[in-house]
Amino acid sequence: MPRPQDDRIVHEPPLFSAFKPTGASGKNLEQILLTLDEFEAFRLADFIGLSHAEAADEMEISRSTFTRLIEKARRKIADFIIQGKLLTIEGGSIHFRNNIIRCLSCGHMFKTNISCYITECPACHSSDLINMAGGFGHGKCCHSKQ
Ligand SMILES: [Zn+2]
Ligand SMILES: [Zn+2]
Repeated sequence: MPRPQDDRIVHEPPLFSAFKPTGASGKNLEQILLTLDEFEAFRLADFIGLSHAEAADEMEISRSTFTRLIEKARRKIADFIIQGKLLTIEGGSIHFRNNIIRCLSCGHMFKTNISCYITECPACHSSDLINMAGGFGHGKCCHSKQ
């Protein structure tokens, strides 16, 4: 029996969730799934530049779990760039700390705490909003964990 995974904390949803090489047709490409916890490990260590210990604290996981995640993330991202596959970010045993909302009317993008429910754009008052955490199937589940 595999041990149940503890939920990992992801600071906020990624802005983009699918990537493919220019000129390639998505249909014929092999797919790589990067989970949200692998994405977050990669973001914290290689984009922000945190040490593994600091990044593990951010995600509320052990250092050894973090090391496994970052190694998997790097292998998948290398595979994506070198072999030219389709990379999709989804899944993983995670909850978000913050959310990102994008307004479809004016393009304004803003960050909120995951527990805030925003129904109108602060810039143009449109209610035509995209909830990025919601797009990954998260929302209520995240703030019940905090
Ligand atoms: Zn707006
Ligand atoms: Zn959640």
